[in-house]
Amino acid sequence: MSEKKTRNAIIRKNMVSISGGNDSIAMLQWVIDNRSFFKGESFDAVYCNTGWSVSWWADRMLKVKKFCEDNDIKYSETHANPGFEGLVRSKCAFPHQFAKFCTFELKIKPLISWRQDNKFTVRNSRVLLGVRADESKAREGTVSLGERDGYEALYPLAYLSDAERDEYIKRTGFTVLEHRSKECHPCIFEKTKKKLKTIEEDRITLIEKLEEDVTRYVQAKRILQNNPKYFEGEIFSMFNSKHLGKKAGIREQIVWANTDKGKYNKEEEDMLCSEQVGYCGD
Ligand code: SF4
Repeated sequence: MSEKKTRNAIIRKNMVSISGGNDSIAMLQWVIDNRSFFKGESFDAVYCNTGWSVSWWADRMLKVKKFCEDNDIKYSETHANPGFEGLVRSKCAFPHQFAKFCTFELKIKPLISWRQDNKFTVRNSRVLLGVRADESKAREGTVSLGERDGYEALYPLAYLSDAERDEYIKRTGFTVLEHRSKECHPCIFEKTKKKLKTIEEDRITLIEKLEEDVTRYVQAKRILQNNPKYFEGEIFSMFNSKHLGKKAGIREQIVWANTDKGKYNKEEEDMLCSEQVGYCGD
C-alpha cells in the first residue's frame, strides 16, 4: 500500500508481531475490537518461523492464519534460512544466554527483510507487540506506547493480567494454552527441570545429534590447535548445566530432570555398581 495522507495525518500500516502464543491471539482480538479507531489503516500479522517449533505448531499457525484472514488481517510468515538447526551447524555452537544469536538470525534479520520487501518504514508504519507488564520481572516496566527499532510501538496488552488477557482469547475460539509459545521448542532458556521434562523423544534425539556434531567439530579443532581448554569427554551441549558439569548432554539432563530433588548423583550411581561385588561384573 502506498503511503496515504488525510489532512495532515499519515494513514499508517500496522505490523502485528505474533508468535502464535496466548498473547498473540489476545492481541489479534484486541485489533478486531479496536479497528474502527484506526480509521482506514491496514493490519498485517507477521509470524517469524524459526524452523524450530514443536511439531504441532505449524497446524496451529494455519488456524491463526485463517483467523486473521477471516477478520481482514493480512497474515505473513518470515522463514529463517537456515533455521535453528542449520544455524547451530553453521556456527558449530548453540546460542546461549551470553551469545543469543538465534534471535537476531532467526527473527530480526528475516523481519528486517520482510519490512523492506513490503515497504514498512518508520515513517509509514508502526508495530504492535503483545508484551505485558504482568508476565515477568523483566517486562514489568512495559507501558502501552513506546518505540521499537525506531518504529512507533503499541503494546495493547501492557496492563492486562493473565485473566483479562484470557478473556480476549476466549472470544477468538482458541483455547488458552497452558504454556508459552512453542515457536522454538525448546527455547535456549528452557533448561529448568520443569521445562526439560516437556521435551519429546524425537526432539531429544535431534538435539543429541546436534550436540554430537558440534562436540566432534570443536574437540577436533581444540586438539589441532593444542588448545589448553581441551579435555577429553567434554560435551558441547544445548544447555550448559551447572548441576551436571561439562560431561552431560541433553540425554543426561533429561535423566536429571526426571530425578527427585537431591536424589541425582551420577558419581554415586557409578560407584554403587562397582561396590556391589558379586552382583555386577564379577
Ligand atoms: S525463542 Fe528462544 S530459541 Fe527462539 S530465537 Fe528466541 S531466544 Fe532463541
